[in-house]
Amino acid sequence: WKHAPANLALLIQASRAHGGRIFTIHEDERVSFEANFRATAHLAATLREMGVRKGDRVALAMRNLPEWPVIFFAAVSIGAILVPLNAWWTGGELDYALRDSGTRVLFLDGERYDRLQSRLADLPDLDRVVVSRCQGELPEGTGRLEDIVGKPGDWASLPDIAFPADPDLAPEDDATIFYTSGTTGHPKGALGTHRNLATNILSSGYCGARPYLRRGEMPPEPTPKTGLLVIPLFHVTACSASLMGAVAAGHTTIFMRKWDPVAAMAIIERERVNITGGVPTIAWQLLEHPERANYDLSSLEAISYGGAPAAPELVKRIFTEFGALPGSGWGMTETMATVTQHMGEDYLNRPTSAGPPVPVAELKIMDVDGATELPVGEVGELWAKGPMIVKGYWNKPEATADCFRDGWVRTGDLARLDEEGFLFIVDRAKDMIIRGGENIYSSEVEDVLYAHPAVTDAALIGIPHKQLGEEPAAVVHLAPGMAASEAELQAWVRERLAGFKVPVAIRFVTATLPRNANGKILKTELRGLFVDEAAA
Ligand code: ATP
Ligand code: MG
Repeated sequence: WKHAPANLALLIQASRAHGGRIFTIHEDERVSFEANFRATAHLAATLREMGVRKGDRVALAMRNLPEWPVIFFAAVSIGAILVPLNAWWTGGELDYALRDSGTRVLFLDGERYDRLQSRLADLPDLDRVVVSRCQGELPEGTGRLEDIVGKPGDWASLPDIAFPADPDLAPEDDATIFYTSGTTGHPKGALGTHRNLATNILSSGYCGARPYLRRGEMPPEPTPKTGLLVIPLFHVTACSASLMGAVAAGHTTIFMRKWDPVAAMAIIERERVNITGGVPTIAWQLLEHPERANYDLSSLEAISYGGAPAAPELVKRIFTEFGALPGSGWGMTETMATVTQHMGEDYLNRPTSAGPPVPVAELKIMDVDGATELPVGEVGELWAKGPMIVKGYWNKPEATADCFRDGWVRTGDLARLDEEGFLFIVDRAKDMIIRGGENIYSSEVEDVLYAHPAVTDAALIGIPHKQLGEEPAAVVHLAPGMAASEAELQAWVRERLAGFKVPVAIRFVTATLPRNANGKILKTELRGLFVDEAAA
């Protein structure tokens, strides 16, 4: 690819040029770009016949399946707003988002249908439900995707029809409502445009080229790769970075039914996977797996992630033990994924950075009341601007007015920039612990804990204290067969950081820490472990 198209209908039309190359793999199903395009065209025509108009909300709740991109591109190509729903949500959470978005047409896989079935009749705006991969009977009026386009194996032989895209789709038109992860409160719908999504194609291409350009060399022509996608498409990173990039560049994307490191290593070996990642946890689980040596993982070229802080050792180990380029970036649902990104030597040189801004993005650091911009090196709230920033929150004028100003989004993240514009995330404003007036950034202490050889997972949280306001406490998961006491870990932190940052209590948990679908530790769930200290 050489450019990002103005709207997503043009993008999917252009992808037809990749023809018989495999676009998606799911278990034993392989869908070519041509087959994907044909199914998309047929489904778009059916949505038109159903009376779906520009701006109507079409929601999609399913795991990563070959139908996901078909439904996505069919809906956005005719001007509808696609609402990807979190497949991990319960019936009640799905119900909330369907009401909030005012969804008219809903696509579900069989599992989500079972979860939501009893609530469907009460949803005020819903007039069509289409289910995919459902074994059981369906009531009158509920459609089956297979009756419209057939099974993935049939898509290549669907008749060639004119693609019914909306000819007037503009880059500024609404395309998606992605919900935020709900780490700090109720998920909010971020209203994204065709431009927001298409912009990611440019930024990811440039990121790979940057090291060459800096050395004054011509970057090699990008070649199609095979990627193992282990993060859900209903989060912006997988959709806007991985899926859009794959459609543009002709990459093959493999979906996994469920994340499992052994199954992943078997797929990497069998399909000669070049790229994977998503969130740092995935990379850790591959690196530390006792069976890793039994698999040939030499095809891996890059392992990139974002969305959560990553420990600096991870970067070096990906490079030395996998021979792959580590990559990382920062973004949020409100920025339609990637705003900063770096790979390879840039990242190895600055393992605690999330990279410099992608082309045409701007960053600034503001004081927390949002009034003054802070100088280079100082920690404050990160603000971001660029063609990837969404218009605002769906249905939430107050939150929109609060967070979106003159093209800038205030992120709620505390960060600093260095002289060369590299971004360093220090904490979420809401997770920063203030102990008697001293700021403690949780990621700084977590990084030190991670660096201890016995620790594989760590979270720092604030627990209430009468005089100091808050005190730091840690929850730690140890590597199998390794031991470390509370006192030993406290001494480890004390040797490396100021005394006020040393956790006053450390709890050891046998399981890895609770995370949401995007790999973020749910700190609110951990606070309950410290009721005794909090009461003291
Ligand atoms: P909610 O807004 O509903 O509370 P959320 O902020 O977790 O949920 P997302 O939009 O999925 O929802 O996540 C964006 C957040 O993820 C960022 O604001 C930031 O706190 C965190 N994040 C993203 N990238 C990184 C990174 N590279 N390092 C550290 N944190 C990151
Ligand atoms: Mg957020």
